[in-house]
Amino acid sequence: MVKAPKYKRILLKLSGEALMGEGQYGIDPDTIKRIAEEVEGLVKAGIEVGMVIGGGNIFRGAGLAEAGMDRVTGDHMGMLATVINALAMQDALEHRGIYARVMSAIKINQICEDYIRRRAVRHLEKGRVVIFAAGTGNPFFTTDSAASLRAVEIGADLLIKATKVDGVYTADPVKDASAQRYRTLDFDQVLDQRLAVMDATAIVMCRDYKMPLCVLNINKPGALMNALLGNEEGTFVR
Ligand code: UDP
Repeated sequence: MVKAPKYKRILLKLSGEALMGEGQYGIDPDTIKRIAEEVEGLVKAGIEVGMVIGGGNIFRGAGLAEAGMDRVTGDHMGMLATVINALAMQDALEHRGIYARVMSAIKINQICEDYIRRRAVRHLEKGRVVIFAAGTGNPFFTTDSAASLRAVEIGADLLIKATKVDGVYTADPVKDASAQRYRTLDFDQVLDQRLAVMDATAIVMCRDYKMPLCVLNINKPGALMNALLGNEEGTFVR
C-alpha cells in the first residue's frame, strides 16, 4: 500500500541562494526547474503547499547597508528581490501544469496579488501553490520570520526550512568531520545553543505558536516527500 503523507498543509521556506545552483548570483534555470518538480510531487500527493523564498541570491538589505546604502532602502530592495524569485518559481510551476499564485506583502498588484490571508487559504484549498513574496512587508525582518509568520497564519501543519545541508549539526559539517546531525531538537535548545537554524525571531514564533519545523536538504532528491511521509529525514524541531 502507498503511504499517505502525514501533513496536509505545509509552508516551504527556500533561501534565495537555493535558486543559484552552482552560480554566485541570480537564478539557475535547471535548479528552479528541479525544485518545481519536487513541489509538483507534493501537490500531486494532495499536500497544500505555501512557499516563502528569500532574496539573498539578488540583494540583502544588510549587505547593501554595509556598502553604504540606507538600511531601509536596502531592505526594500531585498523584499523586491524576493518578488523576482517568487515570479520565477510561479513560472517554473506553471510550466509543469501546477497552478500557482504569488501574493505580495507590499502592494505591486499589477504583477501579483496582494497578500490577503483568507484568499491565500482559499487558493491552498483549491490546490494552488501560494508563493508569499516580499517577506513580512517590513524592513529589519528576514524571510525566515516571514515564513514562520505565514506558516502560523495559514494554519500549516509543518514549516520546512530547506537548506544545503541535511539538517542541523553539532558543528559545521563542512569544516568539522566529527560533526553529528541532530535528529530532533526543541526550540529552547536551538535558542540557548544559538544553533544556526533560522533567526531568533522566527524560532520564537514557531515555539510560541507550536509550529513544528523540519530542516532538510533541498538538493537531496526526494528528501521533501520523504519528510512529509513521516520518514526519518533532516532535523525535526518541536
Ligand atoms: N527583507 C525585509 N523584510 C522582510 C523580509 C526580507 O526587509 O520581512 C529584506 C531584507 O533586506 C533581506 C532581504 O529582504 O535581507 C532578502 O531576504 P532574506 O535575507 O531573508 O533572504 P534569504 O537569506 O532567505 O535568501
